[in-house]
Amino acid sequence: MTEPTKSPRPKDWIMGIAPYVPGRSTAGAGRKVVKLSSNENPLGTSPKAEAAFETGRGSLSRYPDPGATALREAIAAKYGLDPARVIYGTGSDEILHLAAGAFAGVGDEVLYVRYGFAVYEIATRRVGATPVIAPDADYATDVDALLAAVTPATRVVFVANPNNPTGTYTPAAEIARLHAALPAHVLLVLDQAYAEYLAADEDDGGLALARTAPNVLVTRTFSKIYGLAAERIGWGYGPADVIEALHRIRAPFNVTSAGQSAAIAALGDEDFVAHSRAHNGEWRDWFRQEIEAMGNKGLRAIPSKANFVLVTFAGALSAEAAYEGLMAEGYITRWLPGQGLSEGLRVTIGTEQETRGLMAVLRGLVEAAG
Ligand SMILES: *Cc1c(COP(=O)(O)O)cnc(C)c1O
Repeated sequence: MTEPTKSPRPKDWIMGIAPYVPGRSTAGAGRKVVKLSSNENPLGTSPKAEAAFETGRGSLSRYPDPGATALREAIAAKYGLDPARVIYGTGSDEILHLAAGAFAGVGDEVLYVRYGFAVYEIATRRVGATPVIAPDADYATDVDALLAAVTPATRVVFVANPNNPTGTYTPAAEIARLHAALPAHVLLVLDQAYAEYLAADEDDGGLALARTAPNVLVTRTFSKIYGLAAERIGWGYGPADVIEALHRIRAPFNVTSAGQSAAIAALGDEDFVAHSRAHNGEWRDWFRQEIEAMGNKGLRAIPSKANFVLVTFAGALSAEAAYEGLMAEGYITRWLPGQGLSEGLRVTIGTEQETRGLMAVLRGLVEAAG
């Protein structure tokens, strides 16, 4: 037997992936930490979801329901959907990967906007497909730019609405225009991770499209407004044949028992969701006004409909210096040079105390920079 001289060689397209960088969760040793880097719900989760989570204790040795039947039925009842067409994932991240995996491969193109969600690139490269990036319109999604980038090789288009990391929102008419102009063989994935933060009249029409169009997949998550990020539960809705293809490559038992129970309870706690949305709206407005008051120092808040705000820095204080200065005081935010946003800092809206505290530190940094 000869010893192997080399370790196994990963596929070239895998080595082309820049590893996902999660929001930091620790600052300097022994510091109080305020984590505003991952768009989690600062109010926690629904007490009803917590109670439901606990009921799983007696059955830890059993696999979860592989079909997530009760969860699918609860989702379908809430939104008026066909439960057979609801897919569930280990976070909506898994569903984004399933969409790329089932519909794109080597030689195909997957399209999304500059400053799109970081997982789109990973999901695309993972299957050997080619990422194609459409220019933004002042950080926002530009439907004309997306359409101009469609080629015969395009298989999947990812659009997050509201978008992360920009927080920008694309109205229903623009989503409809994008869908109407896409060739039928292109799967349009509408990633609605922040949809529950929108007002009722701001629905982008994604679920309505997914009910009837043959090529629209909507994804949602329990990680954001529902406050269940630790449990990793997402869901999606689309045409029966699309959903059937995704199931073929989904991991078996991909949503835990406790997660399924907690998610069902969270869906039913509309008061918690309404309270979270109202809190976010109030403090996001306050945050934006505070940033606008520092406009003469080069700070700008990109208009956001999500639970975070992207702040850009064009004056004496750089985004990097703001990030470091906030970190030194225990406030963890997200600086995103790896996504081409070295001028921007993404800040999750926290509790009142956290949001006021962060702003006081930021004001001090701006003043000290001159
Ligand atoms: C947070 C987020 C997700 C998914 O999160 P999961 O925890 O995997 O459900 C998906 N898309 C966008 C745009 C997000 O910001």
